[in-house]
Amino acid sequence: MVKVQNTDIYILVVDDTQTNREVMARILARRKYQNKLVANGEEALAAVAERLPDLILLDISMPGMDGFEVCERLKADERTRHIPVMFISAHDATEDKLRAFHVGGVDYITKPFKIEEVLARVETQVTLAIQRKSIIELSELKDQLLRTVSHDLKNPLHVIMGYSSLLMEGGYVTKPEDLTMMSRAIFNSAERMYTLVTNLLELSQIEDGAQLQMMPLSLTQLCADMMPEFELNAQAKHQTFTFQAPLDAVNVMGDTMRLGQVLSNLVSNAIKYTPENGHVFVTIQKNATDVQVCVQDNGLGIPPEAIPQLFDKFFRVNTTKHRSVEGTGLGLSIVKAIIEQHNGKIWVESELGVGSKFIFSLPIMAS
Ligand code: ADP
Repeated sequence: MVKVQNTDIYILVVDDTQTNREVMARILARRKYQNKLVANGEEALAAVAERLPDLILLDISMPGMDGFEVCERLKADERTRHIPVMFISAHDATEDKLRAFHVGGVDYITKPFKIEEVLARVETQVTLAIQRKSIIELSELKDQLLRTVSHDLKNPLHVIMGYSSLLMEGGYVTKPEDLTMMSRAIFNSAERMYTLVTNLLELSQIEDGAQLQMMPLSLTQLCADMMPEFELNAQAKHQTFTFQAPLDAVNVMGDTMRLGQVLSNLVSNAIKYTPENGHVFVTIQKNATDVQVCVQDNGLGIPPEAIPQLFDKFFRVNTTKHRSVEGTGLGLSIVKAIIEQHNGKIWVESELGVGSKFIFSLPIMAS
């Protein structure tokens, strides 16, 4: 999730006295909040329609529409009712304060006010607004997760239910090949579901900050140890596989199992998304302060518009060729989370129809 900063917060100030507006703008500028100043209720509603503020500081006595009415209108509208409104008024009567809360205000400051008090109260409302934003974001993410997971589990479940009910009824299996075909379809579907659930659990563990088993390790050695398995997988698709690394050990602080998972995901993607007879290269390059591992292929490549979302959960490139390859869209999110836990970086260079390079860099240990 993106961390919200004060500079992302937008506050609307509504006051008919120019000096008051200017004083308030200076106070808000101290905390680097974005702000807009307007002089009456009509302008306030127009400004809100143009851009939703995170907080409104609203004067009560204004010519035309007063602050109470502005607030009532905002609370009556589905799109604006969530915006917190703080009243700032010269009226000190309990009656006014009660009315301010009654129409939906969240706070009430009386003029003349103390700058520190205004800032403290604004900060409280901003913190609440940020928390509200995060909850909405999380809830949307949860809905998307549930939709995707249930969709991705439903298809294989249908296959399993369909074939197993045919098997139970008995009469449909007349040849041994039918039995083999049906059991294979059931197995493959169960395997797809298993992969999805395992990937999800792994990602949530990593995102929850599961402790890494950090130790000094030779990245060249780790890669070299995994190469025979990658070579076999590439050979099964008649692809050639090349591995190039410095002769000396390149040491990093890392979790062997997790970094192995990164390599395995990147190389298996390179093999999966490269047609038969293609080529997959893994190269390691040592620089002054970091080491870069590049997994390159001459396969399907990635369209430029897909690159910004490539490491997002469940994102899969939507071309017929990419879609024809089995996947969950979680591998690269796992890879990115692991690399970031190692204070590293990962990026991709790719051209559709030409091939891709996935490069990650890790800080090296001083020898
Ligand atoms: P998946 O399980 O779908 O492979 P990933 O998170 O590993 O999920 O990758 C996300 C998407 O990025 C893939 O669905 C695929 O469309 C694209 N992709 C990943 N690696 C490559 C590659 N080497 N070449 C082309 N496309 C790739």
